[in-house]
Formats: sequence, C-alpha cells, structure tokens
Amino acid sequence: MGFMDMIQKISGSAKITCKKCEYEATEYELVKNSYICPNCGFAYRLSGHDRISLMCDKRSFSELFTGLTSKNFLDFPNYQEKLDKARTSTGEEDAVICGTAKIGGKSCAIFVMDSKFMMASMGSVVGEKITRLFEYATENKLAVVGFTASGGARMQEGIISLMQMAKVSGAVKNHSNAGLLYLTILTDPTTGGVTASFAMQGDIILAEPKALVGFAGRRVVEQTTKSQLPDNFQSAEFLLEHGFVDAIVPRPELKEKIAQILAMHA
Ligand SMILES: [Zn+2]
Repeated sequence: MGFMDMIQKISGSAKITCKKCEYEATEYELVKNSYICPNCGFAYRLSGHDRISLMCDKRSFSELFTGLTSKNFLDFPNYQEKLDKARTSTGEEDAVICGTAKIGGKSCAIFVMDSKFMMASMGSVVGEKITRLFEYATENKLAVVGFTASGGARMQEGIISLMQMAKVSGAVKNHSNAGLLYLTILTDPTTGGVTASFAMQGDIILAEPKALVGFAGRRVVEQTTKSQLPDNFQSAEFLLEHGFVDAIVPRPELKEKIAQILAMHA
C-alpha cells in the first residue's frame, strides 16, 4: 500500500467499488452504512474484526484462544503457502475469531468466521477454537453468539477437518444441556460441513438477507437428484420458507435483534 493509499484508508476517504453496481463509495460511507452499498443494497462480506466492531459494544470484545495455528501435517501440496498468504493478507492466525463481548449491554461468548481467510474453511484450528469457546461459555454460564461463514471442511487437513464437526457438536450439546442459549447468524456464504453441523444447531437461527446457505453445491445437487432447482435455492429466503431459519434480519438491524434475544434469555 502506498503512502497516499494509507492516508486515504485512515481518513476513510479511500474509494471502494461495488461489485454489483460499480458505485464508488468511500470507506467512511460504507462503515456508516454497515458495509452495504448505498446505491444498490449489496452487502459486502465482512472481515472478522469488521463484523465484531459492527456488532459488539465499543471496546467490549476480548479475544480468547489466540496462538493456535494450523500445521500442514498431511504435507498437502501448497497448503503451507496458502496459510502463509491468508495470514499475511488478513492479519489473522486462522479463519475464526473467538472471545467474549457485550452486545447491547449483555455479555456473551462470540465466534466470528472470516471468509477472507481461505474462504473460512474449517480445519483443526477452527474446530478447536469453537469447541473451546463452547466449553468456556458452559463453564461461565454465557450464551454463545456465532456468526457462521464457510466454504466447508478444509480439504488440506483431510479427515481431521471432518472430525471437527463431531467435536464442536459435542461441545454445543454440553452447552445446551446446561440450559444456555446458542444463537447463530448465517452469513454469506455458509456451506458444507459447517452447515451440516454447528451452523444449524443454534436454538435460534438468524440469517442475513440473500446469504447463500447450503451443504453441497447447486450443480452437485442437480446432477445427483437429476432435477431442476428453483432460482432461489440455497438462499436465506428459501431456507426461511422451508423452516430452517427463524428470521432474516438486515444487517443494520442485526445488533439490536441480537441484544433483544440475549436480554430475553438472560
Ligand atoms: Zn452497489
């Protein structure tokens, strides 16, 4: 990043072009508008920390379980390079950020998956951190608020990444048995093993408008079932119609909705 770019970024005057309508918004304008295009309503995908600063009360977030990093234990070709690149470009150690925070004055444990880190694929570190968060929340009697996003299991970690589904699900169950609330917010895109496990295990499941949510990809489903799928297949709206999602909440209203639900279950 050049000097002028940096000044523009810090001052919020850097221009970001909308992928959908090519409207050029300043960074300041986007932050004010919850990272939604002021022209066409397109919702930008958020980094983990942008999501946290949008949803949590100011300076209330305290990160947990840092220092865990994935290793290339299968010697999968190019995995180490991909990890290094993702770490450099996002500044994160892996694809999930965990911690405690307050939302509307209510304490909770929170995890946020970051699609900018290898499409938030779920490997051993993602599974371990979310499991530890549920264990921490159970011990400290906290609700868990989870923002899911994922391309699915991290193929570079083979069977170990699939095992995370069972591990996290066990911790979710213990948390549930303790009578505690688990609220998931499905963000674009939530797919694969994450959808097939903890994304769908929330007591209450919210979704952002138009978020892609599904298990296998559309083409795979079409080929396997030999059927034509509706246009809105695997959208948050389709899932709401079919009872998989409790409500679709636009991003600017999301924080207040979460705060209401936390207050109701406190
Ligand atoms: Zn736009």
